[in-house]
Amino acid sequence: MDCVNCQGKCWRSGRQKNGLQRYYCPTCRKYQQARYQYKAYSGSTDSQIKSLVRESVCIRGIARVLGIARGTVLDRIRGLAATIMRPASQPDQVSLEVDELWTYVSRKDNEYWVAYAINRGNSAVVDFVVGKRTKSTLKQLIDRLLCLKPKTIRTDKLTLYERLIPKRMHRAGSICINRIERKNLSIRTHLKRLSRQTICFSRSLLMLESCLLVYFWG
Ligand SMILES: [Zn+2]
Repeated sequence: MDCVNCQGKCWRSGRQKNGLQRYYCPTCRKYQQARYQYKAYSGSTDSQIKSLVRESVCIRGIARVLGIARGTVLDRIRGLAATIMRPASQPDQVSLEVDELWTYVSRKDNEYWVAYAINRGNSAVVDFVVGKRTKSTLKQLIDRLLCLKPKTIRTDKLTLYERLIPKRMHRAGSICINRIERKNLSIRTHLKRLSRQTICFSRSLLMLESCLLVYFWG
């Protein structure tokens, strides 16, 4: 059998508890099986989960399509999200657009904001914060954005922004944020948990953040 990691030759090396032949790769020093009873162990599962999250498939849907347990899907998404790094730096004098997406977690009255920023030049997501619909949530995001020393920050007319962003770099108004408003529509189309007002929604804040991390930078 060929190794799944290095494609080198593997040796037969005893049997698993369930009687299946076990193999050992001398190069990678790893044990493996030619076939697995639990499908989640095959190498492509993580990348499939990533693609399905982006294609508006819910957790149960992913579990059904891949034939693995729902708990495994949740674990994998959490694990994937933990390895994803937010983009550390941006080109100088970048022009940013900031907007908030309304959503809720577990109950309709438990409202949350996904506040995020995109680079106006290439529409790439620069940073995001998930939090209660308060000034402190926006402040967290704006403070991190100000560290990037942007040329301008464009927002909607929400008055909270006026108190957070220095006047010289602030532009407010619906025309200023046409790109991020288009992006909002894409996000709501591509992430099932943000698509609808009922039926599909986040039950935990951690999963909402994890799915956003996977969607933006995974
Ligand atoms: Zn190997």
